Amino acid sequence: MLNTSALYISRSAYQKNINYIKSIIGETTKLSAVIKGNAYGHGIEVIVPLAEECGVDHFSVFSAQEARRALKATTKNSTILIMGWIDNAELEWAIMNDIEFFVFEFDRLKTAIYEAKQCGKKAKIHIEIETGMNRTGFSEKNIGKLIQILQNNKEYYEFSGLCTHYAGAESISNYARIKSQIKVFNKLRKWLKRNGLIAKINHTACSAAAISYPETRMDMVRSGILQYGFWPSPETFIHHISKQENKEDPLTRVLAWRSRVMDTKDVKTGEFIGYGTNYIARDNMKIATVPVGYAMGYSRSLSHQGRVLINGQRQDIIGIVNMSLLIVKITEIPDTQKGDEVVLIGKQGDSEITVSSFSEFSDQLNYELLTRLPTDIPRIIEF
Ligand SMILES: *Cc1c(COP(=O)(O)O)cnc(C)c1O
Repeated sequence: MLNTSALYISRSAYQKNINYIKSIIGETTKLSAVIKGNAYGHGIEVIVPLAEECGVDHFSVFSAQEARRALKATTKNSTILIMGWIDNAELEWAIMNDIEFFVFEFDRLKTAIYEAKQCGKKAKIHIEIETGMNRTGFSEKNIGKLIQILQNNKEYYEFSGLCTHYAGAESISNYARIKSQIKVFNKLRKWLKRNGLIAKINHTACSAAAISYPETRMDMVRSGILQYGFWPSPETFIHHISKQENKEDPLTRVLAWRSRVMDTKDVKTGEFIGYGTNYIARDNMKIATVPVGYAMGYSRSLSHQGRVLINGQRQDIIGIVNMSLLIVKITEIPDTQKGDEVVLIGKQGDSEITVSSFSEFSDQLNYELLTRLPTDIPRIIEF
């Protein structure tokens, strides 16, 4: 193996998750697979064709750069939607390639209309409205002006979508705020409609909203985290499962991270292991080195705390996570040899290291840990 570790993407787990999301949102609601953040670390180039095999034909990205990657990776001419950053200079490219994009401020709207005029092709726009998150979107006070521009330029755009985003649907503590956002969305949607402006689809829900607030599903759900086999929050899982007869977790993690033992060594009682005086052997010990460190995305805050699986057994990381390697105590599995598989995330035998156990130790959310997985670790699709 050329690389020190690899990320393995499970086809069957992914298919199962997609089927599950579809079963929740129903047949009349479309699924857009959110693949920003390098498909939550899983790899845009791997996930796009896999998702297409599994029946997905709509992808949401954050930036034009991610849209370019998705466009290259698509095998079925799926719809690609930019939810965030696109430079004005890229709008022509987007229009020419049927890339759809959020419009949440006037400069982008006017430039998109101008570019559409120039290239003789309609811009496919999704108007994002501000409903209470206070991040991006046209707010109520600007709707009059928005309506005017939209009405005067109908030949230059396709009103592909009307959308908003919720401010924390994964926590019940935001209940009143989310409910109010839904109200504002419907009010502004009707206002636009009265003025003859009807979007092809309305879409507002992320994973958590789709699960906890069914009325937010509308025509399309933009789901990220669920497709990769994670719940937006423990609360969302509990809320959902409490209403199901079968209490088993219907989602399966898609990603595993594996490396190999690089070397093993015996250490005598009283000797220090690794840099400085961070770790002292209290007994005669056996250790293994693994060629993964913080340069490969294995957080340094897992020093002294992280666990890995070797030969089906959970073993402790000892000392500090180094830049390119970590040290594991293998005193209890002394037969471990160079080349043995090391699981950093995922299953081995009956044991599992989950991303969330990992993130509890290191104080990172699932979302953050996943997206920090470096792009240069190879992603390999398996069963
Ligand atoms: C990230 C994102 C989503 C998906 O969120 P999940 O919690 O992963 O489902 C949906 N909509 C927007 C605007 C987003 O930025």
